[in-house]
Amino acid sequence: MSNAIVFNIQGYSIHDGPGIRTTVFLKGCPLRCQWCQNPESQTSQCEALLHAELCEGCEGCVEPCPRGAREVVGRAMSVAEVFAELAKESLFYAHSGGGVTLSGGEPLFSPAFAAELLARCKQAGWHTALDTCGYASWHSVCQVLEHVDLVLFDLKHMDSRQHFAGTGMPNERILENARRICHELRVPMWARIPVIPGYNDSTDNMTATARFIAEELSPSLPVYLHPYHRFGEGKWEQFRRPAAHRRFDPPGESHLHGIRRLFESRGLNVFRGGEERE
Ligand code: SF4
Repeated sequence: MSNAIVFNIQGYSIHDGPGIRTTVFLKGCPLRCQWCQNPESQTSQCEALLHAELCEGCEGCVEPCPRGAREVVGRAMSVAEVFAELAKESLFYAHSGGGVTLSGGEPLFSPAFAAELLARCKQAGWHTALDTCGYASWHSVCQVLEHVDLVLFDLKHMDSRQHFAGTGMPNERILENARRICHELRVPMWARIPVIPGYNDSTDNMTATARFIAEELSPSLPVYLHPYHRFGEGKWEQFRRPAAHRRFDPPGESHLHGIRRLFESRGLNVFRGGEERE
């Protein structure tokens, strides 16, 4: 049975797919997005989070810290252990048409674990969703998507050089996986677009993104705009990786509205991340 490093299991999640869900967050991601809200998700090992305000710099620092200044993030869990946690919420799934969403980090970074866990969820009759940045081998995509009812697929930048500049990886494999998931595997998909001012919010890039979705994926794909927010900024200091982080400003409402109209002009149905679908 496979293990993975899990850094959060979040119950009563209502924005990661239909109904009431439990979202499982796995550590490990092939990208290094400069705006990442969960920098603790990027490495695939357990790691220490430092609460600097509690740390007194003691000599002979001991484990566990009596002041709670050092917290270990991530825990190795087996499929059976995670499934047992998920089963505690199964009544919610049944009554709301919800289920389980696997997120990260990047769940396709742990394909054997993801496939095994999602297969068990489907056997239990729960709806399954996968939240992915799309950067994975086609073999891993097929291995996992066999057990997935809905893919939440991130599109960060349409220009590969810009994609590399912001995430550390080019986008060709991501775009090709999106096309093949839509047209070969035919798994239902929601497109998720982080709106990062000064990085991907130009009219040119948003027009290219809307065109890609409408013409190369499907015009019936729901599009979710996720405006950048600053909630995760403090974590970069806590995980001692401030140099990898770039500060951005959240987008203004009128700017977001303009981006929304741009997508709607292509006939796409647009929602704000965290907004209920009608
Ligand atoms: S893909 Fe997601 S988890 Fe990975 S670095 Fe980017 S924002 Fe963070």
